[in-house]
Amino acid sequence: MTSPWRATVLTLFPEMFPGPLGVSLAGKALASGVWQLEARDIRDSATDRHRSVDDTPAGGGPGMVLRADVLAAAIDAAEFAPDRPKERPRLLMSPRGRPLTQSRVRQLAVGPGPLIVCGRFEGVDQRVIEARQLEEMSVGDYVLSGGEIAAMALIDACVRLLPGVMGKAESASEESFSDSLLEYPQYTRPQTFEGRPIPDTLTSGDHAKVAAWRRAEAEALTQARRPDLWGAYENAAKNATKE
Ligand code: SAH
Repeated sequence: MTSPWRATVLTLFPEMFPGPLGVSLAGKALASGVWQLEARDIRDSATDRHRSVDDTPAGGGPGMVLRADVLAAAIDAAEFAPDRPKERPRLLMSPRGRPLTQSRVRQLAVGPGPLIVCGRFEGVDQRVIEARQLEEMSVGDYVLSGGEIAAMALIDACVRLLPGVMGKAESASEESFSDSLLEYPQYTRPQTFEGRPIPDTLTSGDHAKVAAWRRAEAEALTQARRPDLWGAYENAAKNATKE
């Protein structure tokens, strides 16, 4: 039997988990064993009397830096514990990382599931990033106070793609980014809200017209809001017609 998808999180605040991952879709799937969550305390790998995990930055400057030796010991303890997948992605949540994308999420959702290191303070000693080959991963161009919320975002995005977590298969295939487009606007009852009706096409019952309307809306929205995605979409469309 293959073991379920598992996220292992290394953090100074394991009590933050499962947190929001314990409710709704992800929480139900966690309770039913579709995926597993292991939050490990980095401090358990500290070796000195004060259980210190950080120290002042070499070269000076504000704040504290997570020690390479303590973090490496925490990573090794997590990896070499019995019953662990040997080859799994090792990530470090970091604003310097490559921005997390839906296609990377899709890759991470297949396979054994990642080991995720959460930074705190000013970040982590560069040498552990190199020595343990951590892939730095960002959730956006802004700075959080720690990697935990970023790790939760990543885990949540992966878990909803695991087989059996989302109700309908198509809810994942049609949503934002699935084809480099943002999602079209959604409507539901009531038929009129504060004088605003649902667009006629959507209530016409004509499936082809609905699909065309949605694609046009998605294209207009993407072009207006995300020139980066729009460029990628146009290129893909050009290449498709060449073939
Ligand atoms: N001094 C660092 C920021 C440290 S923030 C810098 O300027 O790059 C503390 C920790 O929060 C980081 O180590 C990282 O784990 C996490 N973090 C902050 N912003 C993040 C982001 N945008 N994406 C992913 N992790 C982030």
